[in-house]
Amino acid sequence: MILIFLGPPGSGKGTQAKMLAEKTKIPHISVGDILRDEVRKGSDLGKQAKEHMEAGRLVPDELTIELTRQRIGQADCIRGFIMDGFPRSLKQAVAFDKMLEEQKKNLDAVVYFNISDEEVIERLSGRRSCKNCGAVYHLKNLPPKVEGICDVCGGELYLRKDDEESVIRTRFEVYAKSTQPLIDHYSKMGKIIEIDAAKPIEEITAEMLKITAIATVL
Ligand code: ADP
Ligand code: AMP
Repeated sequence: MILIFLGPPGSGKGTQAKMLAEKTKIPHISVGDILRDEVRKGSDLGKQAKEHMEAGRLVPDELTIELTRQRIGQADCIRGFIMDGFPRSLKQAVAFDKMLEEQKKNLDAVVYFNISDEEVIERLSGRRSCKNCGAVYHLKNLPPKVEGICDVCGGELYLRKDDEESVIRTRFEVYAKSTQPLIDHYSKMGKIIEIDAAKPIEEITAEMLKITAIATVL
């Protein structure tokens, strides 16, 4: 099963992808997580990505396309994968279509997380991420058991630089200009399944499991 999660930053893609990956044992591929890891390690890729990420811009297409090509070719992707945050531009989408064709893989569905700007602003400003393992919380909606500490690994929770208000605006503009047009691209291919991403986490999870069941029989 191959799924793409498409939607604005903060719409809940990562939260749902992690849950679905756990239930289906299909890997969750977050290009943002991979890039943050590279930045942490100080690798060449990380050095090239850092400035773009902190400013809320897209990392150059060549880098994310190559990164994705390598990732989906790994052994754990043989039964499929959930793409979270890729593709994010038309160039990436076209490259991804080609990649799947070359690897004789079939895209099952694109889940579009539909949500208002007001709701995502609230979610991004309340999002707290673990410095160590990347687990994601929300100050109100999904608080950790102990304030500031990750439930999973005991790491320190922090506000991502690109979740600061000054950067959120740029990320919205980038989303509207580069990523939103993909809804049209995948609609034409008949792949879009729209969900109301403003619902509570558990309700969306239930819906996600139904979608998974549908996607595997399509
Ligand atoms: P994305 O991966 O789309 O950027 P996340 O999954 O990281 O978004 O979610 C953004 C923030 O909103 C996180 O703090 C998360 O805990 C919270 N969140 C995710 N889904 C919901 C939801 N359905 N209702 C309320 N808060 C949510
Ligand atoms: P995310 O964790 O999905 O919110 O992504 C965080 C940041 O990583 C984005 O704002 C971009 O700078 C970068 N990034 C993640 N995915 C992509 C992508 N597909 N194309 C370009 N940049 C990306």
